[in-house]
Amino acid sequence: MAMPDFTYVRPGSLSDACALASSLGADAAFIAGGTELIPDFQRERETARQLIALDHLPELRGIAEDGGGLCIGGLTTVSAVASSPLVRARSVALADAARAIGSAQIRSLATIGGNFCRAVPCADTPPAAIASGARVRLIGVHGTREMPAEEFFLGPRRTVLTSGEVLVAILLPAQPAGSGTSYQRFSRRKGASLAVAAVAARITVAKGRMQGARIVLGAVSPVPLMISAAAAMLEGERPSAALFAKAAAQCAVEALPITDVRGTADFRRELVSVLAQRAFEQAVERAEGRS
Ligand SMILES: Cc1cc2nc3c(=O)[nH]c(=O)nc-3n(C[C@H](O)[C@H](O)[C@H](O)COP(=O)(O)OP(=O)(O)OC[C@H]3O[C@@H](n4cnc5c(N)ncnc54)[C@H](O)[C@@H]3O)c2cc1C
Repeated sequence: MAMPDFTYVRPGSLSDACALASSLGADAAFIAGGTELIPDFQRERETARQLIALDHLPELRGIAEDGGGLCIGGLTTVSAVASSPLVRARSVALADAARAIGSAQIRSLATIGGNFCRAVPCADTPPAAIASGARVRLIGVHGTREMPAEEFFLGPRRTVLTSGEVLVAILLPAQPAGSGTSYQRFSRRKGASLAVAAVAARITVAKGRMQGARIVLGAVSPVPLMISAAAAMLEGERPSAALFAKAAAQCAVEALPITDVRGTADFRRELVSVLAQRAFEQAVERAEGRS
């Protein structure tokens, strides 16, 4: 496939990158690992012709401890997220979601920021990050802002980012004592295959009862979908297969799946129910230190 002509710029600083992108408007696109952008060029889905590189800006890369939580730079590769003991210690779900992406070659280029900013409904890291209570930090010409990660997504390929704004970091908080996380996804092949449905959960267990669950669905709605009603069903209750099945059924009811080449809407609802039960069981096992 032919590549269209484009210009490629490497600004000397983050503020220069934001100012340049803001002045160019819709003709500019940031490029991180390029694993989404380059195929989108080839398919003529991307119309910007001025590429502004971010990958050489050191302040956007790396995973650093921040209080009890973590600051994960937007340009950190998903491979680094998947293999980070710091991430794994706080959210196994996020590390597992990063590990589920593409192939080893893709993971070594793809960034977590790009995974968020392209905002495709089947992206793996957003549901796991949201279930783990993550926030996003954005910087643009008008300054810095932060918000819960679930507020970042507006629709397929649409986010709150304004022209020239960069996702500089994903902030993963310290997890509540006695909590466990899980990310469960189904794909048609084992490797390099997009999620057909996914469920991320964080459940806290205290004195044998569940508290403060966060449940997020992926690939079955336009944006990562938090299912508060299912979380409320678990609140204050003892873990049991019957209760997990009931809460999982609620997730399936609230999912908004589409039918496409990877699966029908009905099949996706079935998947949500199965994956949610697995996610609840694994999150509780981890909360109780049993796995
Ligand atoms: C073969 C293949 C398999 C894949 N499998 C999966 C999979 O299983 N699961 C999955 O979730 N994804 C998958 N992907 C998608 C892709 O690899 C990820 O979404 C990746 O994380 C995107 O990151 P990137 O750095 O390559 O982004 P880029 O392609 O560089 O950029 C993507 C978009 O985000 C914008 N952007 C990037 N970083 C920033 C930032 N910091 N601030 C503001 N805007 C930014 C860019 O302008 C662009 O619009 C796959 C891709 C391929 C090619």
